[in-house]
Amino acid sequence: MQIGQRPHTRNLWGWTKVVILNLLATAVLTEVLPAQVQSSLPQPIPLPKPTETPKDMPYPGVVELHIDATDVLRRVYRIRELMPVVGHGMHTFLFPEWTPGDHAPNEPLEKMAGLIITAKGSRVHWIRDTVDVHAFHVDVPAGVTQLEMQYEYLGSTGPDTGPVLITPTMLDLQWQSVILYPAGHFIRDVRYHPSVTLPSGWAYLTSLDGGVTAPQPGENTVTFPTIALDALIDQPVMAGRYLKQIVLTETPAPVRLDVAAESPENLSALSEVAKHFVALMPQANRLFGSHHYDHYDHMLFLSDELSTYFEHHRSGENSAPANFLKPSPNSTATAADLSFIVHGYVHSWNGMYRRPAEMWTPNLNTPERDSMLWVFEGLTDYWADVLSFRAGFYSHDNIDEQFSGLAATMTLDAGADWRSLEDTNNDAVILARRPASWPSWQRNMFDPYDSGEMIWLEADAIIRQESAGNRSLDDFARSFFGGGSDSGNVTKTYTFDAMLASLTAVQPYDWHSFFRSHLDDYGQGRLIHSIERTGYQLVFTDKSPGSSPPSGPLDLAYSLGMRVSPSGAIYAVHWGGPAFNANLTIGETIVSVNGKPYAPGVLVDAIRAAESSGPLDLVVKRGRWQHPASIIWKGGMRYPHLKRLPDNAPLLDEILDPISSTVVQ
Ligand SMILES: [Zn+2]
Repeated sequence: MQIGQRPHTRNLWGWTKVVILNLLATAVLTEVLPAQVQSSLPQPIPLPKPTETPKDMPYPGVVELHIDATDVLRRVYRIRELMPVVGHGMHTFLFPEWTPGDHAPNEPLEKMAGLIITAKGSRVHWIRDTVDVHAFHVDVPAGVTQLEMQYEYLGSTGPDTGPVLITPTMLDLQWQSVILYPAGHFIRDVRYHPSVTLPSGWAYLTSLDGGVTAPQPGENTVTFPTIALDALIDQPVMAGRYLKQIVLTETPAPVRLDVAAESPENLSALSEVAKHFVALMPQANRLFGSHHYDHYDHMLFLSDELSTYFEHHRSGENSAPANFLKPSPNSTATAADLSFIVHGYVHSWNGMYRRPAEMWTPNLNTPERDSMLWVFEGLTDYWADVLSFRAGFYSHDNIDEQFSGLAATMTLDAGADWRSLEDTNNDAVILARRPASWPSWQRNMFDPYDSGEMIWLEADAIIRQESAGNRSLDDFARSFFGGGSDSGNVTKTYTFDAMLASLTAVQPYDWHSFFRSHLDDYGQGRLIHSIERTGYQLVFTDKSPGSSPPSGPLDLAYSLGMRVSPSGAIYAVHWGGPAFNANLTIGETIVSVNGKPYAPGVLVDAIRAAESSGPLDLVVKRGRWQHPASIIWKGGMRYPHLKRLPDNAPLLDEILDPISSTVVQ
């Protein structure tokens, strides 16, 4: 945490007050706590000086950054940074900790190794800060104007060491993981001149402009023009042996779909998928009425190894299985499975162009405060779903499945009895990607996504109702997140009150009470009824959703309160549900049901039979230990669905209809 500086000046009375108060405080402490002052028990050593607070002040010179990315077999980048320095004495350099969009201090400091710093050919000692372990202090000798820093980024060798971003056929170069940068400056004030050497025969795609490949034979080095650090980390580089780019639109600004594959055959169905992205372009433009990038790249890595997801202003990092685009008789993949890419695209407006003020930070080591994650992510989820329908990733036949599932999730938030939705905004930091033992009781960072989406769905319906169909949340998208005109690559911050004012300008309403009640009040299932304003009601029947493969997991979340894999492994138990009350926990495996060996069909038959009579007696095991579990449940099989409310206008259908070109000029 950065600590604010004391004011430099005070008036005389101000100083006099401070002196008097200090004397009084000292007298009180001396009188009340003499034993503590004289204690021989351990006393704290003062903490080191906090790392320098960043200032909006240009850093002198340009940092030369070179990444040798040729060692893809060992998944290691070799990094060389030439860092200009002014003046001798102690300088501090930072390894990034926070990246916009990650919401937590997740940057992989543990992957940095081999740091050697030299100046004029001599080694310079560095010291890591013992509190801020991302800070490296370097005592620069007199007469030195440049430090040479060499180190490695040790890419994950498997999922157990973090997301894999380097494989023998492709890589996702995230600049924020391969830099040390100077403390004390906003990152927009630090300029970099980046270059990367790729394996022979590899190509690259990126939203970074102006890359020039060295003409020397056998060398595959691309050098980019000098760029501010905040713009550099916004634009990762996709590189690989098999790349393909499809231009989705040229107007009003170019948008491209960049794909990396493990083999050329895996790209064979790309054009089929691309048509949905082509349809997305006008829908996004009509929703927001503007764009805030000079061009945008959807990056898609097709790999069974490489796993990535990151939103940016000018590009989005995404991944899918290696054969995702390869037509196969067994393939169940559909365009709907790629709708997550739409989420990242919406972030170019919601999150990157407009960002909650507390979520914007001047450098990559200042903590982000996630208090408006429910807007940053919840509203993004909402518009990602809306655009996915409008662009055809989902057909209107999917309305039931898509929104009943979302609404039903609101019934599984047992933790809402003790924890407000507002508090769950902190979970990106609290959990830091660690799995939770009892997610439904703890709640987690995805509550702001799902609950946030329900809140914004209700807000859209309110605007449509209050304005008698004349306005909608689309108008708010254009006025607040579109901003009225194309601005280029800039970020504008906002507060909760500013957002309410903009929403009120679209439609007068008591928005403060509306949002605060959803954010602050307690109680399970508070948001179930939000969908009813849109002309639908959440109901439960024994008919399973059409897309559930018969051989897939058994979703008993809304009956027994648990989810079970095809082999009987229990991988989710709802806190307070029937399974929970029978002492079942995640990680156990069902051995038998009413004396019969476990099979999914045996359990389903037993649930149905238990409606009228009979027990639901399970035996479960964990390792060698077994125990019986008698579940009390007479509600049969239950799956969520939407039912039309005939007296209410079908607003949900209207919301999901594509915007025609005549509506928005
Ligand atoms: Zn997101």
